[in-house]
Amino acid sequence: MSELLARHRAVMPAWLALNYTEPIEIVSGKGNRVTDGEGKSYLDFFAGILTNMIGYDVPEVREAVERQLATGVVHTSTAYLLRGQVELAEKIARLSGIPDAKVFFTNSGTEANETALLLATYARKSDQVFAMRQSYHGRSFGAISVTANRAWKNNSLSPLNVHFLHGTDRHLTQFAGLSDADYVKACVDDLRHVLATSVSNDVAALIAEPIQGVGGFTMAPDGLFAAYKEVLDEQGILFISDEVQTGWGRTGSAFFGIQNHGVTPDMLTFAKGLGNGFAVGGVVARGDLMDAPHAVGLSTFGGNPISMAAANATLDFVLDHDLQANAARTGAIIINGLKEAAERLPVVKEVRGKGLMFAVELEGPAQASRFMEETKKAGLLAGKGGLYGNAIRMAPPLTLTVDEAVEGLGIIVTALETINAEAA
Ligand code: PLP
Repeated sequence: MSELLARHRAVMPAWLALNYTEPIEIVSGKGNRVTDGEGKSYLDFFAGILTNMIGYDVPEVREAVERQLATGVVHTSTAYLLRGQVELAEKIARLSGIPDAKVFFTNSGTEANETALLLATYARKSDQVFAMRQSYHGRSFGAISVTANRAWKNNSLSPLNVHFLHGTDRHLTQFAGLSDADYVKACVDDLRHVLATSVSNDVAALIAEPIQGVGGFTMAPDGLFAAYKEVLDEQGILFISDEVQTGWGRTGSAFFGIQNHGVTPDMLTFAKGLGNGFAVGGVVARGDLMDAPHAVGLSTFGGNPISMAAANATLDFVLDHDLQANAARTGAIIINGLKEAAERLPVVKEVRGKGLMFAVELEGPAQASRFMEETKKAGLLAGKGGLYGNAIRMAPPLTLTVDEAVEGLGIIVTALETINAEAA
């Protein structure tokens, strides 16, 4: 065990999961690559944890933060006007597609979801919420309540009355084998049944990830969210799209993940990539919901000048370089390549994803761990996930080049071939 790992184990929580049997310390980064303490370089196919959305040491972001630092104002109070905050809110409100949108900045995705849940439960005067099975929304009381993943569950302390809906669990349930259309119908029938029998008529909201992140990049079939939205609208139930992983063009085909489904949510939440490593999250909500009196209050560090400088520079970079189109282009190379490989490698159970957000499902957690070690050896970082720890999640920076996509695909396929041969 390295000296740093021993010190980590001594003073950090045991549940703070580290990747790899020999965890690495990342000491520098440039472009889409990072270097560890021993000088080994890796293509970062997880973008930190979807945080380094436009790669490492991006001059535009560094200079924007340095300019803000040079003013001497790292933080005063969010009780004063802050130009960067207003400018960023204007851009995000416009991109969200939410009518009359207003933005509240937080420091994390957890806080963003907690805020959205507060707004929704306040608006509907109800503690009842719908969430999706296999979901992950964060680690505060409210966010954990709407999380359906036993690894994070602390349900006995839930402050919310939560019903979990079907939509991403077809292969794990009695719905296995149904066509998309039949599965959507079964899910909607189930939602109507729950509404008729199991809750009172003031459910506050449905919170859902357009592609489930920690759940293993699992996806609802086309048509599901639109069908759910129709039922929710009948009842005045709000739709919260958790875009912490799916925002900013990552899925290639839309700027926010839920826009792939033709659904305009009442609120959306964001975090992770927007600050390109600097902590920034937030909620976008319809004005009438956001302006509810006494709904939330302030956040001391949410929307601070440094985060706003980083986030404005990152978002401008994404838009100026049309990185959504790049995600579609480079993601297709990888996803198509992986699907081709899967046909001849039985150890691969499924390849799924959209744009630069894709996963490989393997037989079990042991294979997933082998994959992580093999790709690490070959110089590529990925993430593990899924309800059973058997999915490999990959979400490279949106700045990934075609050459890097091809290089990464080669490393991944070689690792899968090795694991397949071992399993044979
Ligand atoms: N929502 C989703 C979809 C996430 O993936 C995460 C984190 O992984 C969160 C919320 C929580 O965000 P944070 O870790 O910034 O609190």
